[in-house]
Amino acid sequence: MIIQLQQGIPATVKENILQQVKSVGFKANEVQTQEGHYIVGIGKKDFDIRTLGQLPGVADIHRVSDEYKLISRKWKVNPTLIDLGDGVQIGEGTFSIMAGPCSIENEKQIELVVQHLKENNVKIMRGGVFKPRSSPYAFRGLGLEGLRMFHQICRENGIKIITEVMQVSQIEDMLDFVDVFQVGARNSQNFNLLDALGEAQKPVLLKRGISGTIEELLQAAEYIFSNGNEKIMLCERGIRSYETAYRNVLDLNAIPVLKAKTHLPVIVDPSHGIGLRDHVEPMSLAAVMAGADGVIYETHQKPEEAFSDGQQTVNFKESERLIKRMRQAFELRERF
Ligand code: PEP
Ligand code: MN
Repeated sequence: MIIQLQQGIPATVKENILQQVKSVGFKANEVQTQEGHYIVGIGKKDFDIRTLGQLPGVADIHRVSDEYKLISRKWKVNPTLIDLGDGVQIGEGTFSIMAGPCSIENEKQIELVVQHLKENNVKIMRGGVFKPRSSPYAFRGLGLEGLRMFHQICRENGIKIITEVMQVSQIEDMLDFVDVFQVGARNSQNFNLLDALGEAQKPVLLKRGISGTIEELLQAAEYIFSNGNEKIMLCERGIRSYETAYRNVLDLNAIPVLKAKTHLPVIVDPSHGIGLRDHVEPMSLAAVMAGADGVIYETHQKPEEAFSDGQQTVNFKESERLIKRMRQAFELRERF
């Protein structure tokens, strides 16, 4: 059960509601975000929710039987729209494109990508400065210094930044330089990190774990929301299977299923999803038609020279075509 509280209610009024929730046999969890004030009731007992709904201080009450509550579509009237400022919004009804290299490499590379994005009216650039790599000997990113450079060039050009945070201790240092924190597949169930991002008050793109179920992804998102941050988007980036012909299996099923279960925006990462640059375009278009609210993909001026993930990275010419086609596909979908 979710109880939406009226904003700014006196402590005594809130205490009374908490007491009443407990008296019907539910555990009461209070959640305060920048957007709202809630009590999440956990319990199984059946009772007439109107008894609580009539209490002073209660704005609305909803029965949500899923394991995840606050991110469920069952209670929220409007889907979540994430505002990055300067007219850049992510969520249902819009189509967001986030593109850039796997790793931030140097100033020249950032400038070239920024130029490419501006020419194509793309407002959000991706690029990792802290890279989770399977081998400790692979390039692991430029770190904070790289982020500062990334930030400065993007700010000068009106481009928003999405970049991966790998551990709690990095959040504070990164906060002023990012627009969206990315939680990578390997950290999808790093609950300490999710807790901390709940307190960070910056939008978060949460990737599905390498072998993560939909339920696990949703529960991970609930960690962030229940710690105070409603600005979450979910990212399908492919799951591991027995198949070796491609890097992962991009699970297109996840798109309509997630959209039905949650009010959060759903973003698709076809680059990691298939891992082969020649097939990024068809999978992106399929994602658009399946209902994705956005696509995040890897592009680089010379993919064959990229420090990481070159095999799945498209060049600028391919990227331009991809952008055009995704926008056409989105327009078509909206007309259905
Ligand atoms: C990335 O976005 O470059 C990345 C490492 O993604 P994932 O966590 O999905 O593997
Ligand atoms: Mn990558």
